[in-house]
Amino acid sequence: MESHACEILIVGAGFAGIGMAISLQKKGFSDIVVLERSERAGGTWRDNIYPGAACDVPSHLYSFSFEPNPRWSRMYSVQEEIFDYMTHCIEKYGLEKLIHYRQSANEFRFDQTTGYWFVTTDTRIYRAKYLINALGPLNRAVYPDIEGFSTFEGKVVHSSHWDSSYDFSNKKIAVIGTGASAIQLVPQLVNKAASLTLFQRTAPWVIPKDDREMKAWEKWLFATFPIFQLLLRWFIYWKNEGVVFFIIKHPTLSRWLEKLVTRFWQSQVKDPIMRAKIKPDFRIGCKRILPSNNYYKSLNNNNLSLICESITSVDKTGITTSDGKYITVDAIVCCTGFNAADFPTELKSSGIDGRTLAQQWQDGPYAYLGTVTNGFPNSFFLIGPNTGLGSNSMIFMMECQFPYIVDIISSTRESGAKYVQIKKQVEIDFNEKIQRSLATTVWQKGGCKSWYMDKAGKNTTLWPTYTFVYWWKTRKMNKADFEFVSA
Ligand SMILES: Cc1cc2nc3c(=O)[nH]c(=O)nc-3n(C[C@H](O)[C@H](O)[C@H](O)COP(=O)(O)OP(=O)(O)OC[C@H]3O[C@@H](n4cnc5c(N)ncnc54)[C@H](O)[C@@H]3O)c2cc1C
Repeated sequence: MESHACEILIVGAGFAGIGMAISLQKKGFSDIVVLERSERAGGTWRDNIYPGAACDVPSHLYSFSFEPNPRWSRMYSVQEEIFDYMTHCIEKYGLEKLIHYRQSANEFRFDQTTGYWFVTTDTRIYRAKYLINALGPLNRAVYPDIEGFSTFEGKVVHSSHWDSSYDFSNKKIAVIGTGASAIQLVPQLVNKAASLTLFQRTAPWVIPKDDREMKAWEKWLFATFPIFQLLLRWFIYWKNEGVVFFIIKHPTLSRWLEKLVTRFWQSQVKDPIMRAKIKPDFRIGCKRILPSNNYYKSLNNNNLSLICESITSVDKTGITTSDGKYITVDAIVCCTGFNAADFPTELKSSGIDGRTLAQQWQDGPYAYLGTVTNGFPNSFFLIGPNTGLGSNSMIFMMECQFPYIVDIISSTRESGAKYVQIKKQVEIDFNEKIQRSLATTVWQKGGCKSWYMDKAGKNTTLWPTYTFVYWWKTRKMNKADFEFVSA
């Protein structure tokens, strides 16, 4: 096996890995390698190429603060434009030479004698002083676990593994799921399909999307006077932070919003039977609030049926539901999301004394500030446990982590320590606080079951409060929280 040594190894070349590499370079670090299992960078925005794929946080905020793009064509850009933006960042900051493509990290092992990490791919072993996991929270696709599913002989596709070569025109299509991807995809597919049967387990709250094309003068203004784009960025940011107060932390205050949204879908859908089916039965915000201007409208199409009965089985040609109905279909589109809450058990990672991450996280993933965990020194998680958001930009969270990680690495370098790790008690106290804080949020109290929770019902994915609190906590490394181990 070929071996390769570097100071800092980043695994994953999505927004997190790319942004981290840029931040490190800006601080003078150069001995960096980024491993990417795919043949291209881009993560989420490389994979999710289904029709209608777009961000649901406005692009002026859902982009790096250090690389504003005055040319965004819309408020909410589509996948292609976001992917192009990422490619631009890679080119501008000279990252191409750092990225090792088609290198899937399979095993991570910390050697406490030397203080180095050894990361194994199919063909190479990488040795690094610091390991940064930027594996991404939403790329382990979940397929429906339904009897006979594998026997279906038509086309099966997951929203995140789209097959552009398959022609959906005039096909009988089943779409399973009514989450974030489905509400973007269904309005696109329904116009092509001979019939579209949409299987819904829970009706989502869908709100109007303040999307529009950016005008030429706005782009000119942002390019000429960047302060105006910055003001827009901050306006969007604070508007989204309002969701934390009114919806997440004080769910009872959101009743007025529920009334407004109810008026919205009632204005869009006239059929009383359809209306009864799309009425959400949980507090708004308990599951991700989905912005769309065309989802509810698309439900009016004559070729669309919304099925609320559960699927009991699938056979070669179709789907049977719990009321005994059989629906013949040509294609099944799984909008069934990702496994975000559980530790990726396929990854082998061992830290001090050979303890594995799977053992450490058997009761659900946790980490201090979602970034470092005791027993796994000199290693970091970008968008680690409890750093996800229900309402704001994930890039904001990453941009809090970047300088925090740089600070820890710089301090360790300066100290000459063999390795540094978070103190166990600091991490325990932090996570108890996080879970206490989560207990009163809409995610826990709102009467829904969401992918934010792990199998045991513990919320291991979301940050419980305002994101500026996260910024405050990560703005500087508190050295007293860490244990420096000398050579
Ligand atoms: C359809 C969709 C829309 C979204 N819209 C928004 C939005 O509007 N706003 C928002 O804030 N968030 C949104 N998100 C969440 C989004 O995932 C994050 O915002 C962000 O893109 C995550 O970046 P990442 O780099 O952490 O992960 P990813 O983008 O998933 O990148 C991880 C990278 O790591 C690579 N990788 C994984 N495992 C390995 C391995 N073992 N070895 C080597 N490489 C590996 C992957 O191939 C991938 O390239 C959306 C997610 C989806 C799926």
